[in-house]
Amino acid sequence: MQLQPWPEGLPRSGNLNYEQLESVSPWFEVYKINQHTFVFLEPHHDEEVFSYLILGNQKAALVDTGMGIVDIRPEVEKITSLPAVVINTHTHFDHTGSNYLFDEIYCFDDDYEINNLKKGHATQFCNSFMQPGSYQNLPQGFDPMAYNIAPSNFTRKIKHLDRIDLGGRSLVIHHTPGHSPGSLCVEDTKHKILFTGDTFYSGTIFLHLPGSSFDDFIQSVNYLSSLSDQIDFLCPGHNEAYASKDVILSLRQGVEQVQKEQAAFEINFGSRFFQFEDFNLRLPL
Ligand SMILES: [Zn+2]
Repeated sequence: MQLQPWPEGLPRSGNLNYEQLESVSPWFEVYKINQHTFVFLEPHHDEEVFSYLILGNQKAALVDTGMGIVDIRPEVEKITSLPAVVINTHTHFDHTGSNYLFDEIYCFDDDYEINNLKKGHATQFCNSFMQPGSYQNLPQGFDPMAYNIAPSNFTRKIKHLDRIDLGGRSLVIHHTPGHSPGSLCVEDTKHKILFTGDTFYSGTIFLHLPGSSFDDFIQSVNYLSSLSDQIDFLCPGHNEAYASKDVILSLRQGVEQVQKEQAAFEINFGSRFFQFEDFNLRLPL
């Protein structure tokens, strides 16, 4: 089912299965996925980006840090006093906004991703995501035209199949390039959840950006198919914090149709737009 436009389509059905908790700031919505897994949603910006908090016995992992419009740390601290390490699914502005507020940051070992962290994202670039109509209810005193992402430093370069032990719960890193060269998915082996970042979400998956590669994406989708038996569901990076693992098969079929030039597309916004039942793809011309 196609996603309704923002903000009319809110709240998204894929979030309503989860128990909603009280947030510290009205900028965030917080949902409990299970006793040890939480998601922070930023519903007042049309990116509708998610950051996930995963608790172990000794540490917590924060999968992405959101847009940085409001400090995410009080939301984390309301749920846990464990030290939190950040794992970036990739380093685009909307997933790294609060990175600079954390001491421990894990990023995939890839120059494109590492440079993004080191440089941050300048106001001039970020302005294009702050046009009127793309947000509502900004916090008082926040100047959308001054919005930028501060540089941050990685403390550990992670690689494909690295295991991150949180104490009683470990996370496995799966390198899934395509949206960006160092995009990754995080597998929670205990709860059989795959956190997919921007490799999959309901909505339009961007494969036309600088650093994107459709060839890499094809490989990554095939690889994800091989993980399907060991996971129960997906927690994507935008829009809906639940996706059935069946979408991996739909994604594979969609990608195959594009590859065989059997899929219809429109040309808009200087790229090719492919519409499928559960998602869309945007590819370069
Ligand atoms: Zn992205």
